[in-house]
Amino acid sequence: MQAVPKSLMKHLATIALILSVLPCSVSAGAAVGSIHDGHIHYDQDVWKALPPADAITVLKTENIQRALVSATPTEGAEMLYQQDKSMVIPMLRPYKSWRHRYLWFNDPELKAYLLEHLARVPYRGFGEFHVFGEDVDSIPIEDMIEIARERKLALHPHTDLEGMHIFLQKAPDIVVIWAHGGFNVPLETLQTLLEDHPMLYIELSLREGMLDEDGRLTSSWRQLLTSFRMRFMVGMDTYKPSRWADLPEIAADTRHWLEQLPDEVAADIARNNLDRLFPR
Ligand SMILES: [Zn+2]
Repeated sequence: MQAVPKSLMKHLATIALILSVLPCSVSAGAAVGSIHDGHIHYDQDVWKALPPADAITVLKTENIQRALVSATPTEGAEMLYQQDKSMVIPMLRPYKSWRHRYLWFNDPELKAYLLEHLARVPYRGFGEFHVFGEDVDSIPIEDMIEIARERKLALHPHTDLEGMHIFLQKAPDIVVIWAHGGFNVPLETLQTLLEDHPMLYIELSLREGMLDEDGRLTSSWRQLLTSFRMRFMVGMDTYKPSRWADLPEIAADTRHWLEQLPDEVAADIARNNLDRLFPR
């Protein structure tokens, strides 16, 4: 076999480099099509390195065409919404700061804070917010649920099973999107909750146990996603700057398991469910 000339080797390396930076929609994941993402953060720690226009470009490069966007502070979601109103679905995060994340659910001024911010941009829900266990059972959170009920807003909690039970009991008539699908809550428990609570939706960023060692969806997950295909959505969860840098890989991984589902099921989970919940 003839040796490959050096000049050609150099050329191939250049092509490989160009291909590696092309949008992944061109190659892997083309079958799934666009993603409408249920979990993007645009926190203050990326504003300088990734101004709003660049953040939108990063999302579009990965063929993410709509997204629930929240931020700490929530002004990040407002900035990204102002940059691209057709892509960004702003979600109001009830924290004023990271410190406030551990206090907000007992803050007597929460209601005033929420009402003031709701007047700024057309927020479509509250989230993603962190609260666990019996902390969910608080007067400020009841106020938040009441506002969500009046204004037809969704809730996007990052909580444990105990916290989720309290939300479902207090807000059975409101769209509740469980961030990370409870991470490691048993799949059978998720199934029971989906059966019992028609307004519950599951967002799958960082969800554990879906894939086997070879990166294939487990049969029980395939079955759950297919049986409840109208109740799931994907998310990239850019909760720290490195997640923005890793977005191509995270999006490719997401597309990899979506492709293992029947086309119509993948389309529902990749984008249709989000569009049904948040019509333009
Ligand atoms: Zn989270």
